[in-house]
Amino acid sequence: SATNDKYFINVNDTIVEKTKAPLQKFTDKSKLIFGKDFSDHMVEVAWDSEKGWGAPKISAYHNLSLPPSASVFHYALECFEGMKAYKDSKGNVRLFRPMENMNRFLSSASRICLPSFNKEAVVELIKKLVLLDKDWIPEGRGYSLYLRPTLIATQKSLGVGASNSALLFVIASPVGPYYPEGFKPVRLIADDRYVRAWTGGPGAYKLGSNYAPTIFPQLDAAKKGFSQVLWLLNDYVTEVGTMNMFVLWKNNQDELELVTPPLDGTILPGVTRDSILKLARQWGTCKVSEKLFTMAELAKAIKEGRVKEAFGAGTAAIVSPIKSINYKGEEYPIPIDEQIGAGPFTNKVANAIMDIQYGETDSDWSVVV
Ligand code: PMP
Repeated sequence: SATNDKYFINVNDTIVEKTKAPLQKFTDKSKLIFGKDFSDHMVEVAWDSEKGWGAPKISAYHNLSLPPSASVFHYALECFEGMKAYKDSKGNVRLFRPMENMNRFLSSASRICLPSFNKEAVVELIKKLVLLDKDWIPEGRGYSLYLRPTLIATQKSLGVGASNSALLFVIASPVGPYYPEGFKPVRLIADDRYVRAWTGGPGAYKLGSNYAPTIFPQLDAAKKGFSQVLWLLNDYVTEVGTMNMFVLWKNNQDELELVTPPLDGTILPGVTRDSILKLARQWGTCKVSEKLFTMAELAKAIKEGRVKEAFGAGTAAIVSPIKSINYKGEEYPIPIDEQIGAGPFTNKVANAIMDIQYGETDSDWSVVV
């Protein structure tokens, strides 16, 4: 039966131990800093190759105790997710397309030989956590409880190999809007000395090991006055910072086209990216393409005045309008509506997604907990 399966988490076995020492909750939600505060509880499920997944546990947020030999510390056997719980104007708690995050979580886990799991169970555990810590979800449009499902290899061995034990956990952090005072368009640098991911590499998975090497180029860009790195691969535009990249332009056939790089294994399959593509195809106001384009092509289009808007897309900000790209020492400015701080299409995307996340628009993408 399914319950004897080593890759099956039985939610019915969940042990809930409420905290006896509630944490200091934010008093001024406008002062929240991303990922600094954590809610009262966390989810944990341990796995080992003999017994499979153990009973899930929800208990007080706490430190982990692991042997220094655990593979997570040596070979970065770790993957994670980033998603949010929202409180709507009626006080309901909502998740946005949570199964999409679980599909990616499982795909990341498989890439580094971490154990499989029934995705529905993890969504159920997340629902239990957000209901228990409901008071930690700040109210208001743009506010949310950021959720960090994580899976780590706990095997006590320095051997480079698949782990025979693992720990899945979920922690939650109250966060404010990415743009508290309206959009803040960013300046990017497309620096071809650095590559984030490559053909055949692990760029399509949310592995911790994909992120550590991006911090140095990011700091390098910041030192030069740029807010984000535009990641190129052999001059092909791939991603921006930790977001997927979108351009709205008049293409070579003089058609208005929304273009984003394809899921060829070198970019993360963003949930926001997928949502924007689906919305744009529904709207039908422009051609929508997932295709490769080079920075040279983009630079040429900017020079010819064909680029209408460009933006990054991801869970943290939904969209991040781009006002210029520095490429081979030259600055390429992209139009921004000064009143909005973004182009009209970028703004429409942000509002449409937020309306769904906060239950203002009915959609099966928004899951009431
Ligand atoms: N690319 C990278 C490298 C990311 O880390 C993220 C954030 N998860 C994204 C794109 C956007 O993905 P999502 O829309 O699922 O947040």
